[in-house]
Amino acid sequence: SAKVLILGAGHAGGSAAAFLRQYGHEGPIVLVGDEPIPPYQRPPLSKAWLKGEADADSLALKDADWYAENGCDLKLGVRAVSLNRGTKTVVLSNSETVSYDVLIIATGARARKLPIPGADLAGVLELRTAADAEALKAALGEGKRLAVIGGGYVGLEAAASARALGAHALVVEREARILARVACNVLSDFFTGYHEQRGVAFELGVEVKAFEGENGQIRRVRLSDDRVIDCDAALVGVGAIPNDEIAREAGLECVNGVVVDLEARTADPAVYAIGDVTHRPLPLYDRQFRLESVPNALEQAKVVASAIAGRAAPTPEVPWFWSDQYDLKLQIAGLPFDADRIIVRGDPAAAKFAVFHLKGDQVQAVEAVNAPPEFMVGKQLIGSRKLVAADRLADSSVSMKEVVA
Ligand code: FAD
Repeated sequence: SAKVLILGAGHAGGSAAAFLRQYGHEGPIVLVGDEPIPPYQRPPLSKAWLKGEADADSLALKDADWYAENGCDLKLGVRAVSLNRGTKTVVLSNSETVSYDVLIIATGARARKLPIPGADLAGVLELRTAADAEALKAALGEGKRLAVIGGGYVGLEAAASARALGAHALVVEREARILARVACNVLSDFFTGYHEQRGVAFELGVEVKAFEGENGQIRRVRLSDDRVIDCDAALVGVGAIPNDEIAREAGLECVNGVVVDLEARTADPAVYAIGDVTHRPLPLYDRQFRLESVPNALEQAKVVASAIAGRAAPTPEVPWFWSDQYDLKLQIAGLPFDADRIIVRGDPAAAKFAVFHLKGDQVQAVEAVNAPPEFMVGKQLIGSRKLVAADRLADSSVSMKEVVA
């Protein structure tokens, strides 16, 4: 049976290997990753692991023995350098050439860098890999000053973890509010207040112009209005860029990621792509989009493994995401595309509420803080496209069960 080559041993690639065996694929599997360790979960790197509440072993997707025991040839510490679709081969950084019958591109995304002076000083950090997380953790501790550049989820989680470790944290965000790209105003205001109450400072609507240091080590962040902020380390969390070069250079269509269909197939029937690297259809929203989430990586890993193993395709899922900060569990389902109003249910002041994004009477997305029923029922409503009565949704004395009854 077919030889499957997977490029990228991250959450998507590692999961695809596991689902292939689970679904009965018997052919060879080769999994190539440029990091030195087997596939692991990234979410704890800014949360439990960073705070010291989870050890490295608990992050692994599978035991280290699993790969050899399941006939999965795991090649670590090597990069895939080029893809030749004509000969169905991939050249690796150690000059080895690996052939395939079916290729899965699962190269993920990398942290976006800030093209400003001082970006290469020691102590200017990013957070994508376990090695990045080690460096960040080493820079934190009682009384240390961390500047977080970018008020997105990774930056905010790191700020919360820094506080838990006794460090100071200041978040610099270019937009007028944090989470501007990914969440609504209600959420931005809520998270800003919650962080401020726990000692995190914010500089909003201002850019970082330069990192300044002494003896090669960062000491200050210079803002666009020329104020300077002293710090011991800076975490740059300004988004991620898909690692789609290998696909693009092989002539596969890329638009902010490798373009795939619902089955995670590229235009080449022998080449699939999954995870953060893909620009994928969102049938619920009639558009293509690049998602960065574990549920997306898992969904596409299942889709690909099903197709290769000859199983029926799983039913498409509603996209979802989560973030943990302090004692807050944020769960988001759907995407707020085309929404024309929002409904707030519950009380942000009590740190238990949900924001529903509606298009007419149809729920497009829900952002739920410490509100699992709102998240769960909201997710079902998004998937079923069932219409809701907005006044009942807004009324927390009406249970979510009754809202959908
Ligand atoms: P990755 O996991 O990034 O794996 C890709 C792998 O391919 C990497 O190891 C990369 O080094 C390797 N690679 C790249 N190019 C090559 C090449 N040419 N040759 C060989 N190997 C290559 N998602 C959530 O849903 N919830 C969360 O709370 C959450 N928190 C997060 C916190 C952090 C700090 C980070 C960084 C991410 C978080 N995410 C979260 C996102 C989630 O981790 C990603 O969506 C997921 O890891 C995507 O899986 P992937 O396999 O597509 O990419």
